[in-house]
Amino acid sequence: MAFVRCSVGRHQIDGKAATVYVAWRVPGGNRLAYKLHFCAQHYLAHELRTIQHHLPENDSDGLTCSSCGITIEERDAVLLWSTDYLPKREAAQYTIVCCEPCSQILQHSFSTIGELLPDRGAELRGPSTPDPWRDA
Ligand SMILES: [Zn+2]
Ligand SMILES: [Zn+2]
Repeated sequence: MAFVRCSVGRHQIDGKAATVYVAWRVPGGNRLAYKLHFCAQHYLAHELRTIQHHLPENDSDGLTCSSCGITIEERDAVLLWSTDYLPKREAAQYTIVCCEPCSQILQHSFSTIGELLPDRGAELRGPSTPDPWRDA
């Protein structure tokens, strides 16, 4: 049986774990995606959860940073996408809008505790695809 470790506490998770995927774009058009596991306690305590809790309900008056609450110009906004899989629940998708400094703090946090996933392009190209340039 495979055990899952909590991305925050690094302890083994008994029972059901929450799995969260977080992604954002990096300059050059690539996408970085991280996978995280949470125990129930750390899921509730993690800043991602806090931020989701404060997502603005109406952004028609402009964008607001989900983390610090300042108003941001659309061109300065950084988007992070998260998909949360909680035990016995439907997957929940969130778009987190951040100002540049907050996005860097979040991205650092996720990349420190999360597991980097190959980007989708790489997955599609796949290692098993025959390489037409290779001369056997
Ligand atoms: Zn934990
Ligand atoms: Zn901010």
